[in-house]
Amino acid sequence: MKKGRLIVISGASGVGKGTVLGIMMEKHPDFRFSVSATTRPPRPGEKEGVHYYFVTKEKFEDMIARGEFLEYDAHAKNYYGTPRAQAEEKQELGDVLLDIEPKGAMQVKQAVPDAILIFIMPPSLEELERRLRGRGDTPEDQIALRMERAAWEMAQRVWYDHVVVNDDPEKCADEILHILAKGQ
Ligand code: 5GP
Repeated sequence: MKKGRLIVISGASGVGKGTVLGIMMEKHPDFRFSVSATTRPPRPGEKEGVHYYFVTKEKFEDMIARGEFLEYDAHAKNYYGTPRAQAEEKQELGDVLLDIEPKGAMQVKQAVPDAILIFIMPPSLEELERRLRGRGDTPEDQIALRMERAAWEMAQRVWYDHVVVNDDPEKCADEILHILAKGQ
């Protein structure tokens, strides 16, 4: 069987990536989600091995030393990385979706040049800030930091293969699925 594709989805915190990815996976149950390792604590409702592998800083640094990451990055005071083995195992079964930020996306592109990189934009910065506040999981003192980071992330979209705007998650998911169907 042909190996699946690596499909990287990036977009600033609050852009609705999780919702868009959820819709894509509902419509395409054969997509597999690459579960990242992180040192950040779980948020309410997040499950070990489903949303992330929650590990200690020591464990993460040990995995770095062993070369176990396809890519990794430190941001928002934590490490985040894609364990290579689980991504490759999932690729044997079909297309794999990676929800990672631009520094990781760049590393994936360098390691796997035929990976497909898709960047999700908010309709506007004002709307992004509104959504971030509305989500209620980002303390007020972190909103400005997240917005600064969002501006930097959005500037990175120029080297992505595709840029889509999320003004409606269903439409955005369909647009990405259309791009991926054309690429087959
Ligand atoms: P959150 O803490 O909100 O779950 O994620 C924060 C950011 O980390 C998001 O932009 C997400 O895409 C990114 N991220 C999640 N997993 C990984 C990963 O494995 N590698 C990299 N480079 N970024 C990740």
